[in-house]
Amino acid sequence: MPTPLDRMADFDLSDEQRALRAAVREFAEKEILPHVEEHEREERYPTELVRKLVPLGYMAPMVPERFGGSFQDVLTYGIICEELARVDWVVASVVSVANSLVAGSILKFGSEAQQERWLPAIASGDCLASACLTEPGGGTDLPNMRTTATRVDGGWRLDGTKVFISHAAHAGLFFVVATLDRGKKHKGVTAFLVDPRATEGISIGSFPMRTLKRDHLAEVHFDGAFVPDAGLLGEPGKGFPVLGSALDLGRYSVAARCVGQAQRCIDLAVPYAMEREAFDKKIGEFQMIQQKVADMTCRTQAARAIVYQLGRMKDAGVERCSMESSMAKLMASQAAVQNALDAMQIHGGYGLSSEYEVGRLLLEAKSLEFGEGTSELHTKLVAEFMLGVRKQ
Ligand SMILES: Cc1cc2nc3c(=O)[nH]c(=O)nc-3n(C[C@H](O)[C@H](O)[C@H](O)COP(=O)(O)OP(=O)(O)OC[C@H]3O[C@@H](n4cnc5c(N)ncnc54)[C@H](O)[C@@H]3O)c2cc1C
Repeated sequence: MPTPLDRMADFDLSDEQRALRAAVREFAEKEILPHVEEHEREERYPTELVRKLVPLGYMAPMVPERFGGSFQDVLTYGIICEELARVDWVVASVVSVANSLVAGSILKFGSEAQQERWLPAIASGDCLASACLTEPGGGTDLPNMRTTATRVDGGWRLDGTKVFISHAAHAGLFFVVATLDRGKKHKGVTAFLVDPRATEGISIGSFPMRTLKRDHLAEVHFDGAFVPDAGLLGEPGKGFPVLGSALDLGRYSVAARCVGQAQRCIDLAVPYAMEREAFDKKIGEFQMIQQKVADMTCRTQAARAIVYQLGRMKDAGVERCSMESSMAKLMASQAAVQNALDAMQIHGGYGLSSEYEVGRLLLEAKSLEFGEGTSELHTKLVAEFMLGVRKQ
């Protein structure tokens, strides 16, 4: 159902972008949404739903057509992430990790052979991708990583553990960062493309989560895993710019997903407020409920505006948008969390009932405040850019 907010959300989109949003929304509501609660209950990964994205071009919107993808522009990619996340965190995450962190890095830093090998596989849906960045010792302080890459005959040996890895148990490609020498901090960081199914020395265990059980989050152990030279992405010791570029696009798509989740909270809370009655009135007639609806609406559109502006900067060819990516991720993830809290409050005790979606959305929105940089990290980055301590 269109909402009054759609007019502003769609205002300066092209006809193609508007039509695409409508098409993704219809697909997501019909094909994905009816399965999400069941998948969460059964802890089932959405393999068959992801396959449905492929013929529609929603699986690889950042991969150029020559590699089998459906790239149109970065803003369109953001709209796809937004609309998929509006119904399911996990399906949106499959697309966002594969396109932003992995395909985006291969396109920018990969050799021709790496592009030919991996991009068509991602676009066809045959090869889901994971990004192995976070370690048990911390995800925020990435330059201090402990997973090591040691030079050996014909390639590299990886040793270490990564945690919280989305899609790892289902992925055919890992984007991995490791260090040549921890003492060198960011100058030791090196990026690799690893085929987990063809590499000995990799084991994948489940990572216990209170929510998002359908995502099968994993911990990944590299125990002398051999990666041939062909798996090196960029140059040894020059992986930090690869990682920075990946996260730049990654934060854009996570922010777009947050806008989708924030919007979903409005979609659920508004009809509830106009159905539920107390004191012989619809609760939506009470000012304190109206305040929440107004705040949810304004913060969602503010977040959407900054995310779309970032997409347009990228489409205009602005090379690095690190400050803007941090701003978008910070604002949009906080909007998603606050909207989920407000939507729960409007639902009263039913917000905690498993019959309603809003309680699940709260933990899922909260997870978006951690992934690809916490709010504290992005606050620090925005301030450092503004104060001139850090450059784009
Ligand atoms: C659902 C989910 C999916 C995820 N998927 C992936 C994935 O696919 N791949 C992957 O690699 N990782 C993934 N992550 C991990 C995520 O990126 C990390 O959780 C995140 O980077 C934070 O790292 P941490 O949890 O180790 O927290 P820590 O780094 O230990 O931070 C703990 C707290 O300290 C704060 N803090 C740290 N440094 C500072 C500072 N300088 N100033 C102020 N505060 C600071 C942080 O903001 C945070 O509040 C996922 C996480 C979740 C929840």
